[in-house]
Amino acid sequence: MKLTFGDDVEAFRQEFLAWLADNRPTAEEMAADPAVSSAHVPEWASRWTRRLFDAGWLVPGWPPERGGRNAGPVEVLVYLEALSRAGVPRTTNPQGLGIVAPSILDYGTDAQIKDYALAVLHGEKAACLGMSEPGAGSDLASLSTRAVLDGDQFVINGQKVWTSGANYADFCFLFCRTDPDAPKHKGISVILVDMNTPGITVRPLAEIVKPEHPDLNEVFFSDVVVPRENLVGKMNDGWAMANGSLAHERGMVWLNFVMHMEQDVASLLAQAPAALARMEAPERAVVADGLVESIIDATAARCLGYRGFAKLVRGGSAPEQALMKAFCSEAQRRITLRSAEMSADHTVDIGVTPASDPTWIERYFTSYGGTISAGSSEIQRNIIAEKVLGLPR
Ligand SMILES: Cc1cc2nc3c(=O)[nH]c(=O)nc-3n(C[C@H](O)[C@H](O)[C@H](O)COP(=O)(O)OP(=O)(O)OC[C@H]3O[C@@H](n4cnc5c(N)ncnc54)[C@H](O)[C@@H]3O)c2cc1C
Repeated sequence: MKLTFGDDVEAFRQEFLAWLADNRPTAEEMAADPAVSSAHVPEWASRWTRRLFDAGWLVPGWPPERGGRNAGPVEVLVYLEALSRAGVPRTTNPQGLGIVAPSILDYGTDAQIKDYALAVLHGEKAACLGMSEPGAGSDLASLSTRAVLDGDQFVINGQKVWTSGANYADFCFLFCRTDPDAPKHKGISVILVDMNTPGITVRPLAEIVKPEHPDLNEVFFSDVVVPRENLVGKMNDGWAMANGSLAHERGMVWLNFVMHMEQDVASLLAQAPAALARMEAPERAVVADGLVESIIDATAARCLGYRGFAKLVRGGSAPEQALMKAFCSEAQRRITLRSAEMSADHTVDIGVTPASDPTWIERYFTSYGGTISAGSSEIQRNIIAEKVLGLPR
């Protein structure tokens, strides 16, 4: 088995690293004005996004006319690894870049592409994703936010929830019901809604971590009037977008998880000698076991990721993505718990004590969201059962 890259891929990596060294935002710039929400684009991030786009490095896997350089999947992998190792975010509006902009490029009109997709890719606008509702999360097709066509405009009423970054976003990629009489998958449309439109109320949700900077929101729509031309794709065809464009980048999401896990494990290993030395024998053995489990988790995640990725590169489908999502998000929870334990003087029941390093406690609590967003672990297990193992429904 050979797990090295060819000369052409190494040359691609060197080209990007050289460009990155000359163009990256500095650690000081990023620390002075950190992004506090998934749709908050500080000035440095806006400039950085534009610089990446203009050089063909924001979305290298896309064709040049969309701002890319037709890089193959292996090159994209190398590029994402290089960015992550350098500690530079690719974007501070991940849903805008990863889901909304490509969906508009696939389905939108020329005007929508210019005013919304390119604005996101140029770092000028940030998007949020309005899918989930109180009664429609895993079962998105149950959504009931209504958009009624009245002449040349839609009138929107309803509520979304868990909308990441809605408190900072410029516009929302909103899933609405436009035909209440059609079967539930068939009456949904997607509409671009400027977040400053009268009738929109954004209510940030209290969060256990960083309560001063909540990222999740409830969004209420009360007789919100939006021009008809903001409809993306065909009327009542929104389900195709939920299934099609949302798959953008899904093939690479595992890498993000793996890189984070590896960085966390490296930090665990660095703390280990001092932490273990101050613990009593029985506890030391438990924490050391946890450390080994974390190393195994991160290694297994990379191997599994490569396996699914190799299938994709050869042109096959890789339902292992569901397995990676479930495994990585749960492993991340275990690893952050181990780190919180390691940083504490002693452990109790749930493994975390008030004496643990607050950063790790925050990371541990935050990691729960990863097992829910973008399809919960239970939903991933359903997919694994049906599509990977071929079990009956
Ligand atoms: C950090 C974070 C960010 C998010 N950002 C956004 C966003 O920007 N935009 C957006 O639209 N949404 C967002 N969400 C919402 C997310 O998509 C939903 O939380 C998710 O789809 C689950 O839906 P739900 O919370 O309504 O739970 P439900 O679907 O009500 O599920 C409740 C529980 O039942 C389980 N369950 C449900 N159906 C099944 C089934 N068929 N089989 C087995 N178990 C089942 C679920 O796994 C879960 O444990 C975000 C969520 C989180 C945690």
